[in-house]
Amino acid sequence: MTTMLLTRVFPPQVGGSGRWFWELYRRLPREEYVIAAGEYPGAREFDRSHDLQIERMPLDFRSWGTIAPTSLAAYSRAAWRLRRLVRRHDATRLHAGCALPEGWLAMRCRRRLGLPYAVYVHGEELRVFRSSRELTWMARRVYRHADLVIANSQNTARLLRESWPVSAERLEVHHPGVDTTCFRPAPPDAGARRQLGWDDRPVILTVGRLQRRKGHDVLIRALPAIRQRVPRVLYAIVGDGEERAALQCLVDELGLGEHVRFHGSLGDADMLRAYQQCELFALPNREVDGDFEGFGIVLLEAQACGRPVLAGQSGGTPETISPGRTGEIVDCRRPDTLAEVAIHLLSDAAVRGSLGAAARRWVLEQFDWTAVAPKARAGFMAASRPAGGRRDAHDLTGRAASFHGTNARS
Ligand code: GDP
Repeated sequence: MTTMLLTRVFPPQVGGSGRWFWELYRRLPREEYVIAAGEYPGAREFDRSHDLQIERMPLDFRSWGTIAPTSLAAYSRAAWRLRRLVRRHDATRLHAGCALPEGWLAMRCRRRLGLPYAVYVHGEELRVFRSSRELTWMARRVYRHADLVIANSQNTARLLRESWPVSAERLEVHHPGVDTTCFRPAPPDAGARRQLGWDDRPVILTVGRLQRRKGHDVLIRALPAIRQRVPRVLYAIVGDGEERAALQCLVDELGLGEHVRFHGSLGDADMLRAYQQCELFALPNREVDGDFEGFGIVLLEAQACGRPVLAGQSGGTPETISPGRTGEIVDCRRPDTLAEVAIHLLSDAAVRGSLGAAARRWVLEQFDWTAVAPKARAGFMAASRPAGGRRDAHDLTGRAASFHGTNARS
């Protein structure tokens, strides 16, 4: 039995969903899974570096709707290509990386070839689907016809149950995991800090695409207050994105050039050093115009590196940490609240040390891929069995779910 993952986003493209699929499917048996991923610059070189069964196909449509003739033609071409790949690999199930466009293609394939499919939901795309009646209608159909809907957090699962609606028996929460052998603590390293331009300054780090919901701007606005108590504070920003120019303007406007460093997108090795060497990791996310953070893998990566974390009280991010034990959840709509918590954490090395040690233990217990990947595979297998076999899947995901106090199936 071969399952084909159809995903637009996959490395070398940077992003949470690409990281999730790469880390998960490379831990599953090669003979059981094949990946049909979107084309991307550098993909060919990347694909030479691993031994996954992978095919590339065009999945970057100008629009996800089907009304425009150009996108209708793009969907038809992709559907044809997908059917050829399914036949070539003898695939018997599909996993769609997102409802649109991948899930729509999986649904068409189900109609033509009878293949069942599962669809992933990351949270943030739900707002995009809601922005148009056509996309809402399409996504609803994809969710309705899926055998299994996989939510990346309890928060995403709740939204699916309440607003789409997806019935509880076809809905599971699979949290992404983290590679704790790669993301691991390291002692302070003066050379690495010098290379990053940090020297011995206290550093708050954020990693991720520069998008409004991630709240870089709130932390920048909090810096004047933080600077009063922690004069040499440096805010290091790793990642790139559409907000870059606006954030740079804000830094200039507030005269904070000495306190903010934009690193841009870093290679994995440099990004790891940044995680390991920072004093505090922050993802000060908040909801902006309905856009929210679905989960926040970066918070797992920082905790795996033994760093205390500060996360926004919005979307799925609270599920990534153990509040008060591994970090703090903060209402990041207001810079002053954020500044208060950041000052507290930056001023107390002992508190940071114990939060960081607990953070490492927390991700080892809850999010290590070596445990998360087999659980996900068991969930896939249970979903492919007739109704009675699904019990296992409830139990498998329920363990992590109940830790956070709720269960997606309740
Ligand atoms: P999302 O992209 O909004 O889903 O954010 P997540 O926090 O869920 O995931 C972001 C992923 O992209 C994480 O695995 C990060 O390590 C990775 N990432 C983000 N920015 C960079 C970067 O500049 N360099 C590298 N190498 N990885 C990055």
